[in-house]
Amino acid sequence: MNTAEVKKIWDEIKQELKNVVPESTYGPWISPLEAVSFDGNQFTLISGESFGVEYLKRTQYKNILDSFRKYFNREIIVNIEFNKEFAEKIKKEKQKIQKKLQKEQHMEEEHKKSIENLSYVQSMNINLRYRFDNFVADKNNRIAKASAQKVAENPTAMYNPLYIQGASGLGKTHLMQAIGHYVTMKGNLKVQCIKTEDFINDYVNSTRFEPNKNTTYAMNKFRNKYRNVDILLIDDIQFIENKKKCIDELFNTFDSLYNANKQIVLTSDKLPKDLPEIPKRLRTRFEQGLVVEIQPPEFETRVKILENLANEKGIENIPREVFEYIAKYYKDNVRELEGAFTKVNAFSDIEEIPITLDYAKKVLKCEENAEKPNIDKITEAVANYFNLTVDEINSTSRVQNISNARSIVCYIAREKLQNSFESIANSLNKRHQTVMYASEKIKKLIKTDKNLQNDISSICKSLNL
Ligand code: ADP
Ligand code: MG
Repeated sequence: MNTAEVKKIWDEIKQELKNVVPESTYGPWISPLEAVSFDGNQFTLISGESFGVEYLKRTQYKNILDSFRKYFNREIIVNIEFNKEFAEKIKKEKQKIQKKLQKEQHMEEEHKKSIENLSYVQSMNINLRYRFDNFVADKNNRIAKASAQKVAENPTAMYNPLYIQGASGLGKTHLMQAIGHYVTMKGNLKVQCIKTEDFINDYVNSTRFEPNKNTTYAMNKFRNKYRNVDILLIDDIQFIENKKKCIDELFNTFDSLYNANKQIVLTSDKLPKDLPEIPKRLRTRFEQGLVVEIQPPEFETRVKILENLANEKGIENIPREVFEYIAKYYKDNVRELEGAFTKVNAFSDIEEIPITLDYAKKVLKCEENAEKPNIDKITEAVANYFNLTVDEINSTSRVQNISNARSIVCYIAREKLQNSFESIANSLNKRHQTVMYASEKIKKLIKTDKNLQNDISSICKSLNL
């Protein structure tokens, strides 16, 4: 008889035993017994407790034999044996259960802690979605991420201030908030995270005269909020340009924190040197720590960001080609990249159509909306292709290869972009007639000149035309 059958018989007999044996004996001693063999005469049960074997034999053997007899309708020899391996197995299982329980308990404590932190975190404007673990890094943002992590782990030790620069939608706020999040979760440092506009409003409100208002008190309150912290995070500092009074206040805040060895983190879409309206004394302070730049993420990173987003939202079974399609067209701004996916997902929800590549194409129409290159891009591509400079093409030179290249620019702008001769002429600073003649000349030549055909098709390909 195979083991499964043996076990099945034992399960049934156990049910019977449950009715006759007291629960205090059944639970700890009979229930864990395991049936291992039955040869027709002898039924063998094993136990992981030698004491249990002795105890059962002494107190319950008769009940056990009776229930076997009842089941088989004849006498059966029942062996109850202690088995060392079985004992080990039970021991391991017990340990596993214990560990699981401990882990659950730990998780519950952690959860409690994080909820306790939550209200605290909210008062500091920290968005819990922005963390280091969900910031996807590649060569274009790795330094920014690494330095933000260093600052979070060890504030003021190295880079003060940390100045994160990058175009819109590339993750500056995400990294800055991740610092705040990390530090807050560790729990012992005071963080203040603020958008520059809010800093400005806060300042203006504190200084504005109102009847019955104690301005000194309001100002002290303002200063206390920004200076009595261990880490001050200020987002989009470029907005402080032209706000002279605020700049002075920020300058003082900066010095006060810096001298007290407190950490400052700033983000901006411009480098300090490109903020001419901010006085030099403040700009040099921005530069005195570490300035890191974020460039747009690479294709694979964009795909990964979308995959993570889908995961985070619990959206399953999206074909990878959908992510690749979106990532192909949304290159410069992660916010827009995420927005495109969110749009496809929302449409699919509403229309109850599963997300496929064709569906994503239908919703986003990226191909149609893809920005067509302008004449400057064409000039650049033609110059690159013929090893010329843009200035040479835009010049009045009549040297043949330059003049040919110029004609090709006119031709592509006319035929592929359907630009008017007028507008091409304006862009190239040439006469309408000249542009028309150049374009027509290439149009004729291309019919017979294979090399010219190849040149133009390569240039167009590089422009996605
Ligand atoms: P910025 O402040 O530079 O304008 P944000 O930090 O607001 O940009 O980022 C815009 C959106 O893109 C956010 O949802 C952010 O989480 C996401 N994001 C940007 N870069 C990354 C990245 N490398 N990995 C994951 N998400 C990113
Ligand atoms: Mg931002």
